[in-house]
Amino acid sequence: MKIILTTEQLAEGIDRLAAVVSRESDGKPLTVIGVLTGSIVVVADLIRRLDGPVNLNMVWASSYRGTATAAGRLELRLDLLPDLNGQDVLIVDDIFDTGRTLEALVAALRGRGAARVRSLVLLRKQGRAETALVPDFVGFDIPDVFVVGYGLDYDGQWRHLPYLAALDPAEIASHSGAQVSSHA
Ligand code: 5GP
Ligand code: MG
Repeated sequence: MKIILTTEQLAEGIDRLAAVVSRESDGKPLTVIGVLTGSIVVVADLIRRLDGPVNLNMVWASSYRGTATAAGRLELRLDLLPDLNGQDVLIVDDIFDTGRTLEALVAALRGRGAARVRSLVLLRKQGRAETALVPDFVGFDIPDVFVVGYGLDYDGQWRHLPYLAALDPAEIASHSGAQVSSHA
């Protein structure tokens, strides 16, 4: 594994994102909606740095299955959400790859009556976007490599790493016989 972003760089990125979001929210209540499972570390670090009232909710999305590293069919579960009528929503996800997950979520949350829906991603992969949607806040642009750590997994593993690392294609191949499980 090769380290792409150190713990210190990630902390600086979160500080930077929190400062911009706080400044643009100007003390008004914000409904933060984290995307399970990959965003849990970003969400936990980000909300503790936000000024002003924050209401936290989670949704679930998955486009990866088990040991596949290419996007598959997108599944969304929004059943944990309260009424969003009139709320100022910030969707928080770990990584923007093709953009299909965020595009579908933004549309779904608008459909639930939110007054405003903005999106924040910690990471964005270069040259991969397949949608017109541009995230409102981006922590880091990274090369098109498969990354793990700081919430992101490969086949359910590595989410706990305090840094972000690229998973070597050889390491991915050596896991290809592993048991398939669903993860987000
Ligand atoms: P998109 O819908 O933008 O193509 O994919 C976004 C989702 O795919 C992310 O929320 C994340 O779950 C997953 N994903 C995309 N790229 C990576 C990656 O490099 N590593 C990991 N672990 N997950 C990724
Ligand atoms: Mg995800």
